[in-house]
This record gives sequence, C-alpha cells and structure tokens, in this order.
Amino acid sequence: MKDLLVDLEKKAWGLLVGKMNPFKSNKLGGVIACPWLNWRKADATPGIIQGIFIMQDWYCSSNSTDSLKKSQEESLEYNVNYIREACKVNDATIYNLYNHKKWKPLIWDNKKTWLVTNAVWGLRTCDNPTGQLPVNLHKTAFQVWSQLVAKFAIMDDFKVMFAGAWSADPEERKCGQPLGSFLESWRKWAGKGIGKNVEVSNLCFKDVKGKAFFCSHPATWKRKSKYKVCHCDECRLLD
Ligand SMILES: [Zn+2]
Repeated sequence: MKDLLVDLEKKAWGLLVGKMNPFKSNKLGGVIACPWLNWRKADATPGIIQGIFIMQDWYCSSNSTDSLKKSQEESLEYNVNYIREACKVNDATIYNLYNHKKWKPLIWDNKKTWLVTNAVWGLRTCDNPTGQLPVNLHKTAFQVWSQLVAKFAIMDDFKVMFAGAWSADPEERKCGQPLGSFLESWRKWAGKGIGKNVEVSNLCFKDVKGKAFFCSHPATWKRKSKYKVCHCDECRLLD
C-alpha cells in the first residue's frame, strides 16, 4: 500500500498543486494526499480489498476561526488520527459511516475489506470553499483516483460506491453498472469540453472488473434511514 501511495501522491502533486493546497505533514512537509488512504498506508497487502468507497474530498473542516484549530485541521496526521478515532468524533460524515451497521465493519473493523478515498486530494483553496468542486479540477483529479480504482478492480465482485453528487449526473448513477464502462465514460468526459484534460487519453480501463454503485454523501444520511445505502434494487444485494 505504501509504494502505491508514494506513486499516486507524486502524481497528484504534479497534477493538483496550485489547484488544491497541500496538507501539512510532519514527515513530508507538504503533500497532496488523501487522509483515508494514509490511514491505511501501513497495511502490507492490498489483496483483500473488496471495494472502494469514494467521496469528493472529505477532510476535517470545522470552519473554525481559531488559528490553532485551523492549522491542526490542515495536518495530514491530524486527519488520519481523526479517522482512526472515529468512535470519538462528531463530524457528520465520519459519524454516519462509523455508526452504520454495514459500513463500520467494512471500513473500521479488523479485516477492513474496503478502502475509503477522496476523489480530489488535498485541501480546498479559498476559490472553492464549499460544495461541488469545479469541472476542470475533477477532470484533472480523475487521473489520480481512476488509477487507484483500476489497481484494485481486478475481481468480478469488486465494488466501488460513489458517494455524493459529484460522480455523475443523476440519470447516469445506475447502481450495478460495469465499473470499466463507467470509468471509460468519465475518461471521455474528462478529455473533452470545458477544462478538458488531454492526458486522460492515455488511460485504459479495459481490464477493470467489478461494478459501480451510487449513494448520497454520508454527511447527508439521516438517522432514520441509517441502515439504507441506497433504495435501488441493486443495492439491496449489497446488504
Ligand atoms: Zn443503488
């Protein structure tokens, strides 16, 4: 896992620095990274990974005006620790995932058979403080997250859960569709139009296996529907 992250963080730095701010890191100085993946960095073998839960760009962000708190939240290690100690925190995303009977065992318990990742790594700049990140940023960041997904999507029963509205238009969010063709449609989208990214033409998803699933962002999950992932027929198969 460590080698993969070193490679992807190097790639992310080249692509995203200037568009996203780096996390501060005791060990690395500044790094364009994902705290969720860094939490799993020490894991030796990625062999048992059965799925990836992907959100737009979660990290600790209390919008505090306290400069000490703010500076803590920009630290990669602080964010990793926050995820590790999920039982103690009250961030809506972490709380809802950690208190979910399906997701807690997959993400936090011993086997940790699912990875969680952000699509767009790093910290937001003041240009994009909240909400959906701009199209050009997503087109660039696709070069990072798609490579992570492709690396692990080698089994027919592999699943990727896309959480939140960023991943596709509503009519395209059909659970159970082949992951490889979903990534291919992303690749086509990223390579044309506003903010197009010519580099994506080098990516290939023909060997990608598994299926794509869709749900709302965990920060928005309501207590009363806590045990529902998504209400579609395909998602019932996930439970
Ligand atoms: Zn569904």
